[in-house]
Amino acid sequence: MRVYLDHAATTPVDPRVLHAMLPFFTERAGNASSVHGFGQDARAAVDQARAQVAATIGARPSEIVFTSGATESDNLAVVGVALAAEGRGRHIVTTAIEHHAVLEACHLLEQRGWTVTYVPVDEHGIVDPDDVRRSLRPDTVLVSVMAANNEIGTLQPVAEIGRFTRERNIPFHTDATQLVGAAPVGVDDLQVDLLSMSAHKRYGPKGVGALFVRTGTPVVPVQRGGSHERGRRGGTENVPGIVGLGAALRIALEVMEGEHSRLTALRDRLIREALEMPGAHLNGDPVRRLSNNVNLSFDQTDSQSLVLGLDLHGVASSSGSACTSGSMEPSHVLVALGLPQERASAAVRLTLGRGTTDSEITYAIGALRDVVARIGRAA
Ligand SMILES: *Cc1c(COP(=O)(O)O)cnc(C)c1O
Repeated sequence: MRVYLDHAATTPVDPRVLHAMLPFFTERAGNASSVHGFGQDARAAVDQARAQVAATIGARPSEIVFTSGATESDNLAVVGVALAAEGRGRHIVTTAIEHHAVLEACHLLEQRGWTVTYVPVDEHGIVDPDDVRRSLRPDTVLVSVMAANNEIGTLQPVAEIGRFTRERNIPFHTDATQLVGAAPVGVDDLQVDLLSMSAHKRYGPKGVGALFVRTGTPVVPVQRGGSHERGRRGGTENVPGIVGLGAALRIALEVMEGEHSRLTALRDRLIREALEMPGAHLNGDPVRRLSNNVNLSFDQTDSQSLVLGLDLHGVASSSGSACTSGSMEPSHVLVALGLPQERASAAVRLTLGRGTTDSEITYAIGALRDVVARIGRAA
């Protein structure tokens, strides 16, 4: 049996999404900037997708900038807003558990004289809005707090933070890549000014995403070379990809409610049965977490052995750890929770998806039992 439980890393393209994309590789392959009929046809498809993406998050179509994915969206949000606000201040507030796309964009700015405050999280991985509020300074020009963490699935109090960033007129960015299409997301409810998303995390193609930029939020374009996307992102539009993103979100909205409750039940069963194993711990918040995310640590094991052992059983999982110079460094997210080193480096992430069935969860739990017992015996 082969069981894919790594949907936080990527998802397969929904066949309906692929079907919608295919003509734009061949008979409808115009450049959306061209004035002729082929170009106009591509432009119409891009506009339709833009309206779909905007509707998904309660934005206006003109506020959607198509990108190559959430990594680019995060970079454009952080670097673009920072450069636009340079004259007013050079301080950014973010959290310790952001995706590397946000963290490394911040590091780039730090190397150039900016100051970045990394707000800590509690032992469940949740940021306290008061901590964010207290770290604001007169020269703060951007706050970036992710909506849902990709490793431990914790949901952040984005709307509460949005309330005071709005009051103080500070642009507020959220990386909502894991949340868009999984649960309702509204840019006005969240009071965010910028929001990142990616198609391939929601059964769309890899290499395409979007950044919501609220009207009136100054952003200096990072990718130069054309007036595409209203001058906010140069480069010929990835028409098939953009069409795929639009179709993927349309389908996601249709199945959202049903999938949310189905996945929550499967997730809770997986967590419950895994925690019956000796030396098992749940990482992240038990309640405020994505419906598809399970992150566990097992005493006397290590992430690499868990992931490789599960792979031998045909179960795809993730360690979240980065392999630095041959040794496994525990993930910055698990470290930020303040977990003991042994537990942070013995974590495995299992993320469920649309294709995940009850019998797959049964199989995965059996595999997990076997792998943990084997590692224990070998130690
Ligand atoms: C996957 C992911 C990204 C990166 O998205 P890409 O489209 O693969 O570049 C950024 N942030 C979060 C939270 C993610 O889960």
